[in-house]
Amino acid sequence: MHPRARPHPLAVRQERLRRLLEERSLAALLVSNPVNIFYLTGFRGTAGVAVFSSSQGILWVDPRYTLQAQEQARGVKVIEEKGGLLKAAGSWLARRKLGRVGYEDSHLTCAGLREIERHATRALRLEPAGRLVEDLRYVKDAAEIECIREAGRITAAVFEEVVRRIRPGMKEADLAAEIEYRLRRQGAEGAAFETIAASGERSALPHARASSKLLREGELVILDLGAILAGYAADMTRTVFLGEPSRRVRRLYASVLEAQQEALAAVQAGARAGDVDAVARRVLARRGLGRFFTHSTGHGVGLEVHESPRLGKGEAKRLEAGCVLTVEPGIYLEGLGGIRIEDTVLVRAEGPEILTPAPKDAWFNS
Ligand code: ZN
Ligand code: ZN
Repeated sequence: MHPRARPHPLAVRQERLRRLLEERSLAALLVSNPVNIFYLTGFRGTAGVAVFSSSQGILWVDPRYTLQAQEQARGVKVIEEKGGLLKAAGSWLARRKLGRVGYEDSHLTCAGLREIERHATRALRLEPAGRLVEDLRYVKDAAEIECIREAGRITAAVFEEVVRRIRPGMKEADLAAEIEYRLRRQGAEGAAFETIAASGERSALPHARASSKLLREGELVILDLGAILAGYAADMTRTVFLGEPSRRVRRLYASVLEAQQEALAAVQAGARAGDVDAVARRVLARRGLGRFFTHSTGHGVGLEVHESPRLGKGEAKRLEAGCVLTVEPGIYLEGLGGIRIEDTVLVRAEGPEILTPAPKDAWFNS
């Protein structure tokens, strides 16, 4: 290897984990969350158990995944295990008399923990480790940002294709299907979450499923879509109006857009997550719409569609350069419908970069 070659991103992640373990005086971490296993090793199977100690990395998989793990995983020894992955990891740890070993208490079930303890000896002290790997995932590296940027580009491109085809008489479910088909055609692995296409009064439900309802002239339509690419998600919402909107609808839309743009401007490295939320909330309150804004302003995006930070009231977590999150204020008025505008953005030292660059002009059909 060239002496100045950059280390592989997976090697960097494993090194960062080991430093974190040292800080917390843990001899090893047992990783059971498949998303975290993928993040650390590159193995994308849905079943596996990994252990990282200061000097070793082991990945236990069942025979379905042996080949895949050998192909994908880096920095770990892959062990095929037919008799229970947690049991194997437990006895491996116990034999090594490592001392304090952390486990992912937000993921490992009580039954799973008992399974390990049953096969471990007294030399093994298992301790809840919180969300160590999630903490590492908070700031994205260059490879991750590239994936989310491409997922965002595809998401925006599909919206632009589909919005030109929206007509009264279309079924919500067909619109959602059209979006998901086009996400794949544009190179995504699929939809990162169930696509929302909600029209008229149904758009007043922030998480409406696409139904068999037909779109009608004079209705608001909320489209919430996101591509997934190499495991990374993008998340974007646009609201469109079918036909000629009233002055009231135009005013409401302008208020949500203003809230979103001001909140986007507040997305800065060093800002508190709650500060961004407060900005969006203040704009809508000023327009007398505060009580219709019924959810938080946004959430982190990455390997999961909803991850840290939560952009909610009073959230003290500081944004850092390399965080990726959504900004998505919305208002929901019974009898009229909902208006939500959402982008996925990258926090950078010099200000936010919008990763879902689709137009926000709501009157495409007028
Ligand atoms: Zn969304
Ligand atoms: Zn979202």
